Amino acid sequence: MKIAVLKEAAGETRCAAIPETVKKFAALGAEVAVEKGAGDAASIPDSEFEAAGAKVGSRKDVLKGAGVILCINGPEPGSLAGAETGAMLVGGLDPMRQRERIDGYAKAGIEALAMEWMPRITRAQSMDILSSQSNLAGYKAVVDAAAAYGRAFPMMMTAAGTVSPAKVFVMGVGVAGLQAIATARRLGAQVSATDVRSATKEQIQSLGAKPIFVENVAGIEGEGAGGYATEMSPEYQKAQAELVSSHIAKQDIVITTALIPGKPAPRLISDAQVASMRPGSVIVDLAADAGGNVEGTKAGESVKQHGVAIIGASNLARSLAADSSALFARNLYNFLSAFWDKEQARPVLPDDDEIVKGVRLTQNGKLVSERLTAA
Ligand code: NAD
Repeated sequence: MKIAVLKEAAGETRCAAIPETVKKFAALGAEVAVEKGAGDAASIPDSEFEAAGAKVGSRKDVLKGAGVILCINGPEPGSLAGAETGAMLVGGLDPMRQRERIDGYAKAGIEALAMEWMPRITRAQSMDILSSQSNLAGYKAVVDAAAAYGRAFPMMMTAAGTVSPAKVFVMGVGVAGLQAIATARRLGAQVSATDVRSATKEQIQSLGAKPIFVENVAGIEGEGAGGYATEMSPEYQKAQAELVSSHIAKQDIVITTALIPGKPAPRLISDAQVASMRPGSVIVDLAADAGGNVEGTKAGESVKQHGVAIIGASNLARSLAADSSALFARNLYNFLSAFWDKEQARPVLPDDDEIVKGVRLTQNGKLVSERLTAA
């Protein structure tokens, strides 16, 4: 069985395989072919893929007879000619926004598997691209905030006087938020954090940060459906806005990460609240691509409002291409190897498996994902 690894389109720095996963696929009996230059932006030269046992060639060469195609983002369906009929396309296919492409995969007889729709179950943790990439984004958000902040993070007692520690507030304590808290703590900041899910309170405390929670209106008890948040009641939103208003004016750095699956990101910070912060403060909005948690956020840009820098962070994992590629590539390996059929020497995906039902979009020329057909 041949596995093709594609070079991504311009703007994408990550690569869907690393030499380690090439070797692991080879150990399962697969042959791996990597498109020339696929790892360049992630600091993996073609020679390293070759040393790991991969063949390096043109897109046409690597696709020829491939049964599995690995990618970070979904490619144009028309660029996949030459692969086996029914070849699996595995990567971040962005099904909701790339519906036309998904239909194109169905037409081309490709079995499209969207890794961002991995169910949030224990068995699938090691296959979860959203988690692996969010973790790095949470770290990078804090590093970027520190770089944009004209003051130091840790408290410093010097002969010339004391530098006070930065106050960092993390809003939304999922995978990215937890890593942001941990990173800000390591840099010596005083950290507080909030979420709508009550289960995060203990996690915040265990990282040495202070939980800031709406107490008078009920939030989401426990983990919520699949660990995700839902839209909150107007009453909760009002209580949250009041709580944030009093807290935010005293913060130097705010990192927002709040997302609600299938909905625009909740608005957590108004322009008036931005104005209440002292000049020189920095907000990093990790939800920028989903519309932003902060009024005035522009995805992929840094804007200044009332003397406060608002960084509309867009796909921060791309700026850590070597690490994000490694984690992404291992997610794909963990997925395919979990379904590897030794006799057939290829992955076999059972129709009734919860993971397969979550990620499979197209099969045998048809759209099969209920989430897509219902949309
Ligand atoms: P996410 O990216 O969907 O959202 C980020 C955070 O924002 C969440 O914690 C959410 O509760 C919070 N949020 C939403 N609306 C908010 C609001 N109005 N105000 C404040 N915060 C708000 O979340 P995520 O990083 O994907 O993680 C969600 C949960 O899923 C976590 O508990 C995580 O541990 C769990 N998880 C489980 C698995 C697994 O078991 N395989 C994998 C990944 C994540």
